[in-house]
Amino acid sequence: MAVQSVGTTPLRFPEMHLSPEQEVALLARTLFNEGYDDHLSGHITYKQPDGTFLVNPWGLAWDELCASDIARMDAQGRQVDGRWLITPAITLHVVLHEQRHDAGVVVHNHPRWGTIWADAHRVPPIYDQTSAMYSGEIAVYNEYDGPVNDRSNASGAIRALGSANAALLANHGVMVIADDISQAYIRAMVLEWRCRQAWHVEALGGGVPMTDKTARDFGDLIDSVPNAFDGFFEAMCRRVIRKDPGVLD
Ligand SMILES: [Zn+2]
Repeated sequence: MAVQSVGTTPLRFPEMHLSPEQEVALLARTLFNEGYDDHLSGHITYKQPDGTFLVNPWGLAWDELCASDIARMDAQGRQVDGRWLITPAITLHVVLHEQRHDAGVVVHNHPRWGTIWADAHRVPPIYDQTSAMYSGEIAVYNEYDGPVNDRSNASGAIRALGSANAALLANHGVMVIADDISQAYIRAMVLEWRCRQAWHVEALGGGVPMTDKTARDFGDLIDSVPNAFDGFFEAMCRRVIRKDPGVLD
């Protein structure tokens, strides 16, 4: 793990040595805590150096996943390893990885607040600092033609995504793309936080969004530099591990 400096004081976080399967299980559980908790819904894919992808299996909720539950598929979505089956709905991820080779991690789910804005076909304004931790583009795919396990529907969603790293899928849910697991956690958490905060501000009668420049500058600081917020995801992992060390098994 990298070492950062704050002023002249080095800030060093304890090393966490996680296997890729442990990273996926911890990403699912930490995001569950943020509102990615629609029962059995949701997929995470994590590109591996050999061209295969780790994926959470069908039938297990995100708050019960352990490292040994994580399955593996090839680039065509065919399962090559794992004791549980992979959902056929993984088509959305397969098509995305075919077209976005920069995507190291892809998260799709129907989180509590993000799905409300997806239902409204609107991108929520940025009202606060945490919401600005990801200030990049959020695409809106506003045609719900059916589930994205259909390849043509999945292709439409990916076209709408373009080069954005986050998307609201109308009347469905959200999608987040990242280089690595830590960045995926921060982007997905921030999207949900932003959707929740904006809903509350607008329920109050409206608010004053952060200026574009302020939001962009802060987001660039956190999001653009690899591991810029070193230790953030790890802290949320420790919270999960304290409650259930079995997540690592
Ligand atoms: Zn879905």
